[in-house]
Amino acid sequence: MPNQTADVVICGAGLAGVAAAYYLAVGHGIRDIVLVDEREPLSLTSSSSTECYRNWWPGPGDAMVRLMNRSIDLLEAIARETDNRIALNRRGYLFATGDPARIDEFVQAAEESARLGAGPARVHRGAPGDPEYLPAPAEGWEGLPTGADVIIDRALIRRHFPYLTDRAVVVLHARRCGWLSAAALGHYLLEQARAAGARLLRGSVTGVEVSGGRVRGVQLGAGAGGIATERFVNAAGPSFKPVGAMLGLELPVFCELHMRATFEGDATTIPMAAPLVIWMDPTSLYHSARERAELERREDGPALLAPYPPGVHLRPAGTPERPQALGLWTFDMAPREPLIPPPVDQHHGELTLRGLASVIPSLATLVERGTPVRVDAGYYTKTAENRPLIGPTPVEGAYLMGAISGFGVMGACGFGELLAAHLTGADLPDYAAAFLLSRYDAPAYQQLLGRWGSSGQL
Ligand SMILES: Cc1cc2nc3c(=O)[nH]c(=O)nc-3n(C[C@H](O)[C@H](O)[C@H](O)COP(=O)(O)OP(=O)(O)OC[C@H]3O[C@@H](n4cnc5c(N)ncnc54)[C@H](O)[C@@H]3O)c2cc1C
Repeated sequence: MPNQTADVVICGAGLAGVAAAYYLAVGHGIRDIVLVDEREPLSLTSSSSTECYRNWWPGPGDAMVRLMNRSIDLLEAIARETDNRIALNRRGYLFATGDPARIDEFVQAAEESARLGAGPARVHRGAPGDPEYLPAPAEGWEGLPTGADVIIDRALIRRHFPYLTDRAVVVLHARRCGWLSAAALGHYLLEQARAAGARLLRGSVTGVEVSGGRVRGVQLGAGAGGIATERFVNAAGPSFKPVGAMLGLELPVFCELHMRATFEGDATTIPMAAPLVIWMDPTSLYHSARERAELERREDGPALLAPYPPGVHLRPAGTPERPQALGLWTFDMAPREPLIPPPVDQHHGELTLRGLASVIPSLATLVERGTPVRVDAGYYTKTAENRPLIGPTPVEGAYLMGAISGFGVMGACGFGELLAAHLTGADLPDYAAAFLLSRYDAPAYQQLLGRWGSSGQL
């Protein structure tokens, strides 16, 4: 039985839920919002990300780039208003390869991204008339280039990215990218939403009452009663699908487990001024000469020395006094039933550090010292084409704010603003249609899914 009422109930107080509450309360003046979460706000997936952002997204179409550009505009506005409480930088993403056959692919990627609206492509070949390469400062974001610099000039690569293996023959530095404090962003959005009247309720949403095709209320577990409401937002992160089922919806999403590795070093081992570095080739794990000799004698040695899939990432973290790095390297993308807490394979930490040490040689010292690596994990909740679901559903009054995969930090503000526009009937940006659940009803979209290409997941 409902024992309270609300204009809007949001299930989930992760970044998705708090951003929805912020844009509804602060942006549209809706006062009576209840955010229901069964755990501490911002403590599940939203606390285990690498906190990076980018406007670097593949097609088809430019909707994803435009949504992310908008979200980054909003992040920058918050950084400006708060004296950069969210610690936003614009160091960029650095994609690197040791394969000279990939040079054209990198140039074409920069040109394609420019066509989609990420900013101009600049190619640095070490030839007269090359554009100037402006390095990214460690802090700040104002007045820096957008687009991408493709650097084929190896002397320029060595000068600006001396920590990279000298196997790197081309790098692509995507510029409207960097990282921020996801916790500071989440707490800012939550504080402001609460100051504008939103309430946080500790509890579990166990059912949504629907009658006459529309939302009537929300049931809470553990005898906590219910909330009479006509508007409900599913922002349940890895529980997006089961919460969708409470509305009678079969949401086309699945979960993937991703593990984050964190380790400490010092100024000589961790490149503290680096951008997010992503090695785009398969890579073997780093082994010392002694380990390698031993492995070569073992029967399973060749398997352990074989290359692992591309995509090992690193970004520096911590402080100059206490340098740290975050590493990410996912190669098991099998869909899984989400378990809370997510299972963690501690061995993955050492594997990630050894993969990184093969492309950032100063990290080899950390491997040899037996540096401990902490591993935590979370789920990417995704659609097949890795685009979010934001907007109304066939159940009147029920809205979706999910399937935000590995981009929920960078996209939170753009998604929250879009969700709030749908819910209040405000003007919608023209990228809105690309993120509706109803997109799957169009035969042309189903055909497009069959020839989609890159999902944009790094
Ligand atoms: C390893 C890793 C690295 C990542 N790196 C990045 C990155 O660099 N940049 C980026 O933008 N994104 C990144 N992400 C993705 C980002 O973290 C997520 O997209 C985002 O945090 C998801 O937010 P959410 O609010 O949807 O989910 P969550 O943070 O999981 O929040 C969902 C909330 O819903 C609550 N809930 C669920 N069901 C119920 C219920 N029935 N009743 C009450 N409460 C309920 C849960 O308790 C939870 O608090 C990364 C993710 C991982 C795992």
